[in-house]
Amino acid sequence: AKQNGHNHFQFYVASIDQEIRERKQMERDLGNALINHEFYLVYQPQINLETKRVIGAEALLRWNHPEHGLIPPDDFIPVAEGNGAIVEIGQWVLDQACWQAARWAGEGSPLRIAVNLSAVQLRQESIVDDILDTLKRHNIPAGRLELEVTETSFMTNLTDAVAKLHRLHRAGISIAVDDFGTGYSSLTYLKKMPVQHLKIDKQFIRDLLVNEEDTRIANTIIDLGKSLNLTVVAEGVETAEQEYYLSQRGCKLAQGYFFSKPLLPRDFEIFVQTFHAR
Ligand code: C2E
Ligand code: CA
Ligand code: CA
Ligand code: CA
Repeated sequence: AKQNGHNHFQFYVASIDQEIRERKQMERDLGNALINHEFYLVYQPQINLETKRVIGAEALLRWNHPEHGLIPPDDFIPVAEGNGAIVEIGQWVLDQACWQAARWAGEGSPLRIAVNLSAVQLRQESIVDDILDTLKRHNIPAGRLELEVTETSFMTNLTDAVAKLHRLHRAGISIAVDDFGTGYSSLTYLKKMPVQHLKIDKQFIRDLLVNEEDTRIANTIIDLGKSLNLTVVAEGVETAEQEYYLSQRGCKLAQGYFFSKPLLPRDFEIFVQTFHAR
């Protein structure tokens, strides 16, 4: 079997059977992954471009498959969303991230942790209580948690999503719109949703200073953020030029390989120390 491309249908047009078999196999493997401790989290630093401080981290899931090795989340998350396994996996992510945040807080560095919340999780009846319980269990102030949701999460049932995000927001959790600009962006969502952060997708940052259209899109999102009083986060910042442009343009937060790849907790701690000691 392959490590990559399980959902990349175009590679498998010749063999839909195999595509289906692989997907079924992956679903079975996902079912065991939690019990077998095959998941772990890595943390990508988020930097305040004005103060040059690490303000927090985005938790990103990794699956170390016993046979196939590391499988990228873009390959297995859609499968886990498809069969509902993401609900349990997502709860594990939240638990693990809060546990880590509590440890870091205990060691004197309270950081904000951003966790990706799948649309499938947001649809769960008990999701708000589950999240608030998790915070309580780990003794994490709600202000320390940020949830990243994509615009597609709002679409299936707007009223339900609005109500849940309001409850989370009222509890003190901040909400970021992930991959902003790639989906069904609508100003209606932004008006109705209690969101505080917009994340400019990395596809617009990659050619930020090369492709005029991308420059304009990034500028538009930054200006939109300013006028709606939302903090804008640029993801996928890879060069000093991109960082300089974004900070001059008034984008407040950034993450990307220019600062650091997503890191294991120990490496993250070392990164923060050296970054602040520069
Ligand atoms: P995302 O939430 O948009 O995360 C950003 C992705 O960009 C991450 O990929 C990150 O490693 C990558 N990245 C960060 N900096 C750079 C950069 O400078 N250049 C480039 N080219 N890429 C960069 P990753 O870790 O492979 O995750 C892919 C996607 O999988 C995430 O996209 C997110 O949608 C999903 N995902 C990851 N972890 C979770 C999770 O715990 N729950 C859910 N529901 N989804 C997750
Ligand atoms: Ca994200
Ligand atoms: Ca993104
Ligand atoms: Ca994404």
